[in-house]
Amino acid sequence: MIRTRFAPSPNGLLHLGHAYAAIVAHDLARAADGAADGEFLLRIEDIDAARSRPELAEAMIEDLQWLGLGWDGPVVWQSSRLDSYGAAADRLRAMGLLYPCNCTRAQIAAAATAHGPDGLIYPGTCRGRDIDPAGAAWRLDMARAVEIAGPLVWEDELAGPRVATPEIFGDIVLLRKEAPASYHLAATLDDAADGITLVTRGADLFAASHVHRLLQALLDLPVPRWHHHGLIVEGDGRKLAKRRGSPSLADMRGDGVDGRALADDLRHALLPAGLSLIRGIGCAQ
Ligand code: GLU
Repeated sequence: MIRTRFAPSPNGLLHLGHAYAAIVAHDLARAADGAADGEFLLRIEDIDAARSRPELAEAMIEDLQWLGLGWDGPVVWQSSRLDSYGAAADRLRAMGLLYPCNCTRAQIAAAATAHGPDGLIYPGTCRGRDIDPAGAAWRLDMARAVEIAGPLVWEDELAGPRVATPEIFGDIVLLRKEAPASYHLAATLDDAADGITLVTRGADLFAASHVHRLLQALLDLPVPRWHHHGLIVEGDGRKLAKRRGSPSLADMRGDGVDGRALADDLRHALLPAGLSLIRGIGCAQ
């Protein structure tokens, strides 16, 4: 049986790009007419206490109902899973794979020389140093992790089989100073805990799956398949963003737009003027 999820972070209102992501996850689990027998879960990724707002999560739930996308079981709140993130970090620490880091952004910017999919590659300043872990972030010793895990492959339904290359990220943060876990750690653990068999998300997160595959190997987690779907972009090729004036789904709901009809239009890539859907990993980083 196939089980997918839509996993928004409640730090902004959803827009058409999110609606498309939710529709892909929903429809791959069950046909649009409700005929297929897969499951579609809704997980709210609300562990960033500084940015998450409960009223945005409520708006997301209303948006999905308005689009006609029903989910199975109760909504999963990532904030209820903090213990599992801590336990996984303890395990990685015991394997000698995490080290504390107290570098500031400015220090990293001054010392870094290369870019990875998430921005500057950490230059390894704190690796091997005696850093007070209080208030520090915890980074993955990528070279050691890759060596322990050995060669790994993963499968994207659209792009085909891939050799995992998590080393392109360098020593990523797994536990952040200001949040209990990074996206990479929390999403990987939660997809396993939720029994997700097909991870769907936008092609802009294609590279993240290299890291998630590595974490699955290190933590003995089941390995799902992936489906990185196309992105809705503006005329200049940029992703939709509220700050650039893309209307939110909540705005459209308030304006009396028919959500189910909108969802059907998105299924057929019928988009408002000025927007287009780019498919495949051509739009991936
Ligand atoms: N919370 C992440 C986001 O909104 C989820 C990405 C994913 O589906 O893995 O971008």
